[in-house]
Amino acid sequence: MSPHLPILREVFGYDAFRGPQQAIIDHVAAGGDALVLMPTGGGKSLCYQIPAIARQRAGHGITVVVSPLIALMHDQVGALHEAGVSAAFLNSTLTSEEASDIERRLLRGEITLLYAAPERVTTSRFLAQMDSLLERGLLSLFAIDEAHCVSQWGHDFRPEYRGLTVLHERYPSVPRVALTATADALTRADIVERLQLESAELFISSFDRPNIRYTIVEKKDASTQLLRFIEREHPEEAGVVYCQSRKRVEEVAAMLCEAGIHALPYHAGLDAAVRQRHQNEFLREEGVVMVATVAFGMGIDKPDVRFVAHLDMPKNIEGYYQETGRAGRDGLASDAWMAYGLQDVVNQRRMIDESPAEEEFKQVMRGKLDALLALAEATDCRRVRLLSYFGEAYAKSDEAQGVYMPFCGNCDNCLQPPEVWDGTDAARKLLSTVYRTHQISGHSFGAGHTMDIVRGKKTDKVVQRGHESISTFGLGAEYSEQQLRAVMRQLIAIGALHVHTEDGFSTLHLTEASRAVLKGEVPVQLRESTSQRSDKKSRSRSAPSPAAANLGQDAMVRYINLKAWRAEVAKEHNLPAYVIFHDATLAAIAEHAPQSLADLQGISGLGVKKLEAYGEQVLRVCKGAA
Ligand code: ADP
Ligand code: ZN
Repeated sequence: MSPHLPILREVFGYDAFRGPQQAIIDHVAAGGDALVLMPTGGGKSLCYQIPAIARQRAGHGITVVVSPLIALMHDQVGALHEAGVSAAFLNSTLTSEEASDIERRLLRGEITLLYAAPERVTTSRFLAQMDSLLERGLLSLFAIDEAHCVSQWGHDFRPEYRGLTVLHERYPSVPRVALTATADALTRADIVERLQLESAELFISSFDRPNIRYTIVEKKDASTQLLRFIEREHPEEAGVVYCQSRKRVEEVAAMLCEAGIHALPYHAGLDAAVRQRHQNEFLREEGVVMVATVAFGMGIDKPDVRFVAHLDMPKNIEGYYQETGRAGRDGLASDAWMAYGLQDVVNQRRMIDESPAEEEFKQVMRGKLDALLALAEATDCRRVRLLSYFGEAYAKSDEAQGVYMPFCGNCDNCLQPPEVWDGTDAARKLLSTVYRTHQISGHSFGAGHTMDIVRGKKTDKVVQRGHESISTFGLGAEYSEQQLRAVMRQLIAIGALHVHTEDGFSTLHLTEASRAVLKGEVPVQLRESTSQRSDKKSRSRSAPSPAAANLGQDAMVRYINLKAWRAEVAKEHNLPAYVIFHDATLAAIAEHAPQSLADLQGISGLGVKKLEAYGEQVLRVCKGAA
């Protein structure tokens, strides 16, 4: 048995370690350096919190947790207090009196975990305090959270992270653990180099999040599609909607509010105070939908986010996976839903082309975008593709059958395999049209005009330009505009068509790769448009949340009363409800119908401190409801 299992049970009330947690915790608690790659929701926090507790108990002193997430430190520390752990944070939100008080406790070695942002950690004042702790043998461990912030390849580059090399240089004897949910090889190598973790042990978890269902739909009227998705699949549940621009965030939030959904906007253009207020509301109230740019979400550890929706395509799979990973940290059924269309492809390409970055950097970004496009256009299992992007082979074993299956059964393509059609002919007609219009007119045209020619539409523009005479005119009359759009998307995705944008006009151009498609050497496989298929059945929703889905009637009454009680406590403590108890813990209590404190023991999420603090109240609520 791991010597740390008792801490997991006593402090956090959990039964068993998850995945590689135990190996990591044993290694770090014993003083080893580590780099931990684990998906969002995998349980990274315990990987440094339990070593911190164990090492403090063994007399090694304090653990410094470096995190960029100042806005979340209050709740993170609050969660530790609830579990009976001595923790504190130092950041700009404290008054100078509060800060000096914490510094005093720090220097006395009374704190187990101290959270601070990198820019604070690297000040001479802070370093002097750590020197003093080190002299007295009270500097136990450095935990560097969100370690990908050190890398320019990561999507959250923070230059302050580069300064963290001082930790290694100044305190070579103090162990360090760096953690991140970003797993691609480039970022990983950068973290190792930048944070000098060459000799640290590397722990890579499976990046699979089996409870998340991946769905990517073709974008038509994105707002309506989103609204229908929320109303049908997630009424009154918490979720995050990602949009590309601030303007779009505002519009979508307003649209959802109008439809009676409790939605809030979040983007970098809002006042810091407004952002903080909206974030608090999202964390503290139930069923809030946050409509946001990518500025929102890093480190948000709300466990019951039931869906993450993308109305615009992210830049790459790392971003997509990190954002969708914010759904379902509690392990219960959740959705990752994205609407994607031709315009997304065009926009993302343009942003790369127009960025002032070095050509080498752009090349990397284009490669990453292509991988995401391939995922969006895929007709096979999305999970298999996602995981293979992170270098992981996915195979689900069916023990009864004794076979391994290369599909997950929990993504749109697995649940409802798309019809596939051969778009090679349509692709060739589109490409020849691009070629011929350029030949005749001496310049290039956009997607709409090209499709009009292929479909044989005599628009004013077609007639004026004499494009009726082109040999491909009307040759693709049997294709719908939607089909041609899909072909176009695919061609752009595989690089056989290039979109150039200038002064707001996008034009199409052939590339090196066009030739092979034109010659019929590269087949173009396409998914049938979703509108031609029957609508996906929605999940049956008889319960207020998936945690309570299987409760009987009496238990449901207890559950509802427990939730009301939890809301009161959370408010009193100025903390989000889930910091007091997760939904799953309340559901387990409700199901047990406890009569005594002994009945409460062993319920997941109920540690010694919480049992002591809340046991009697929980019993009263349960009995009152009987
Ligand atoms: P990450 O930081 O990797 O995204 P967290 O540390 O926030 O993930 O953990 C995700 C959720 O899983 C949290 O709600 C946490 O309490 C829970 N959790 C972590 N480890 C365990 C475990 N061994 N057993 C049960 N729940 C766990
Ligand atoms: Zn699948």
